[in-house]
Amino acid sequence: MGVPALIVAAGSGERLGAGGPKALVELAGRPLYAWSVDAFRKATHVDRIFVAVPPGKAGFFTEPGIITVEGGETRSHSVANGLAAITADGDPGIVVVHDAARPLVSPALIDAAVIGLDSDTELHALIAAAPMTDTVKRLGDEGLVVETLDRSELVAVQTPQVFRVASLLEAAASGDLAAATDDASLVEAAGGAVGVIESSSGNIKVTVPGDLELAAHLLERTR
Ligand code: C5P
Repeated sequence: MGVPALIVAAGSGERLGAGGPKALVELAGRPLYAWSVDAFRKATHVDRIFVAVPPGKAGFFTEPGIITVEGGETRSHSVANGLAAITADGDPGIVVVHDAARPLVSPALIDAAVIGLDSDTELHALIAAAPMTDTVKRLGDEGLVVETLDRSELVAVQTPQVFRVASLLEAAASGDLAAATDDASLVEAAGGAVGVIESSSGNIKVTVPGDLELAAHLLERTR
């Protein structure tokens, strides 16, 4: 079985302060997004790799074999544009969505998530998440702690996130795209069943400059 993958790489990278798209920032000698492309190339159950890129920047995304799509105003709009391209020739059934900002994703995790969703007909989506190791508290209006959440019920959600294409399209059509920070939240809001596949906390998201150093160090260890 082979399914399409969509790597969203159209963010501006403001918090990284690199003066250009985050996906093109150099990490261990290559653009950040190229590490994710590599992992998806190695995944057995992925047959096409779409990359949502910042408008006007497609020429900078030169990894061989990828299909570039113009991204949108928010992450969810970039996903919507990618899905439109992926479904142009028909519904592939399942799609994997991944943030280019997570260069340490492993082919094994991608494959396990695809197989996991394909083999469980009750699920509309299956998402990577790590157990919560920090204690998480909710703050009130005054900035004071009002509650300590039960860590045993919480997970830290990552990508890849694998979806039934029809479920994600339906959820996106009625959802608040501007507010969604991941795609699974749209499916949850539409009443869909979202399962979790355990991932490592090493599948970090590059957001601020220090994350690049950590990612480079972790990549050295896994190469
Ligand atoms: O902004 P944030 O770090 O949450 O972005 C997560 C991922 O979504 C990144 O890989 C980024 O490139 C992508 N993104 C996008 N289109 C946007 C905003 C973010 O593809 N408009």
